[in-house]
This record gives sequence, structure tokens and C-alpha cells, in this order.
Amino acid sequence: MRLIQPFDPWRSSLCTCPPKYSLNPYTGCQYGCRYCYITSYIPRGFNPRPKKDFLKRLEKEVANLEDSLPVAISFSTDPYQPLEKIYGYTRQALRILREYGVPVLITTKSTLVERDIDILAEMDAAVSITITTHRAEVARAVEPGAPSPRDRLETVSRLADAGIPVAVRIDPIIPGVTDRARDLEELVRSASEKGAGHIVSSVYKAKPDNLRRIIKTIPWFQEVYRELYRGPRISGYRYASTTYREEILRTVRSLAHRYGMTFITCREGLEHLDDKDVYCDASHLLRRR
Ligand code: SF4
Repeated sequence: MRLIQPFDPWRSSLCTCPPKYSLNPYTGCQYGCRYCYITSYIPRGFNPRPKKDFLKRLEKEVANLEDSLPVAISFSTDPYQPLEKIYGYTRQALRILREYGVPVLITTKSTLVERDIDILAEMDAAVSITITTHRAEVARAVEPGAPSPRDRLETVSRLADAGIPVAVRIDPIIPGVTDRARDLEELVRSASEKGAGHIVSSVYKAKPDNLRRIIKTIPWFQEVYRELYRGPRISGYRYASTTYREEILRTVRSLAHRYGMTFITCREGLEHLDDKDVYCDASHLLRRR
């Protein structure tokens, strides 16, 4: 199986991003976010391992790429999870992609991406930092392995200072847990102050395994789920009601605009809330577009 694959989020009709490739240096992710969906399709999803012969295979595949689509690293496991400190596959992948002039889109919760600012600054690259809440105790509960929100915001700042375009993903918003208006405002304001130019947001979509984990961590979420998750079932995910999603995403949208950033939703089917000519993978921030 090839390492570089056309990005295809489960053939979701709700994905509005332009074509790109996907590359995951690791299988699985150490961060163990309660809402994560990878455990529904990656066996032992929270026990990550490096891909076999990764660098050798990657070099060959990049050399044979026939187009100049961006490569997304990595949209289904965190490329800067702690394993990266041991193997350094993400850094090596960036070196190879830089050599061949391939644009990259990074999505991470990790401060370790700062280590690679030297390479990213010399590439056509955009980085999305996921921050679901600015409240440290809530983040610890729902994203137990990931760096604190404050540290992630500092990473936004360091990337922006280095001239690397940065988006912040408030993704997912967990109803009743991370959706307080004043918390969202604090987060959006901080993202803007730190130099992010774009906000991407979506509401938690339930699958049986991530729902079990959230309820185990936050037992009262069961009530929220019962009341709110009456929206459509799409690609195996149960959505919150459209009324709720419209309302909360409209709130984030107006906050993003108030603080001078663009806004888009992600796989919500609510395109009327999205700004024009921007994408949830942040590819509009690439220089080469
Ligand atoms: S960082 Fe992303 S891939 Fe890793 S556990 Fe959290 S949601 Fe899943």
C-alpha cells in the first residue's frame, strides 16, 4: 500500500476541500483524545507505531509524484505525537517534500511542530493547530495526551512570527462541554492575538466507540447526547441537531469575523456559513494557489 494516498475522507459528500494527498508517518496516535474517530477503523488506534520502511518508500513515491497537489500530514494521526521525538519521520518527510517542492498542509495539536519551523519556513506550507478549548482542565479530560491549550497557543504565535500561515481548528466543539459562548470568545480572541488568520470549526460527531469514551470521561454527556443528537446520520456518524449546529457555528463564525479572521465549517453540510474561497484544510493559505 502506498504511503501517499489521494485524500478521501470516507468519500464524505460533505467534504468541500480541493484535492490533495494524505500522508501519515505513523499508524495510530498517542494523544488518545476522547472524541477521536480513528479507533473505529485503526486497530489499536491509541497504540501508535511507525510505518515500516517509511523514509525509503517515501523518497521513491515523492520522486514519482506526477502532479503538484499538496500533501496533508497527517489528517488522521498527529504527525507530532510523542513518537516523533524518537523516530523523526515527520521531519524527514518534510525534508524530502521540500527537496521536491511539494506544498504541505500540517494539522497537529503538538508544540513539537515548532522544531521544524526552519524547514517549514522554506516550503510552501500552512499549519493548522487544533485547540478545542482554552480551559486546561477540560482539555486534560478530553485530550489527555496532548499539550495544554496555552502551549498550543504559543505555538500558533511562534509559527506566525516565522511567517508560516496558521489556522486554528476548534474541532470538535463538544456540546455542553466546550460550547460556552464566553469560552469560545476567549479562544477565538487568543487565536487571533497569537497570529492565526483562519478558524475552522465543527461539532462533535458521534460513533459508538468515541461516544463510549466521552461518556466514561464525562458521564452527564449521556443526557446531552440523548437530547441533542437527533440530527442526521452521515457516513456512520450521528450528528447533533441542525438547529444546534447552526447556532453554535454561527457564534464561532461571528467571533472569527469580529477578530479579523476567516471562517469555515468542516463536514457539516452548512456551507452557507462558510466564507468564500477558504478551505477547512487551510490550503487557501498556501502561497502557490
Ligand atoms: S490528536 Fe487527532 S488523531 Fe490523535 S488521538 Fe487526538 S483526535 Fe485522534
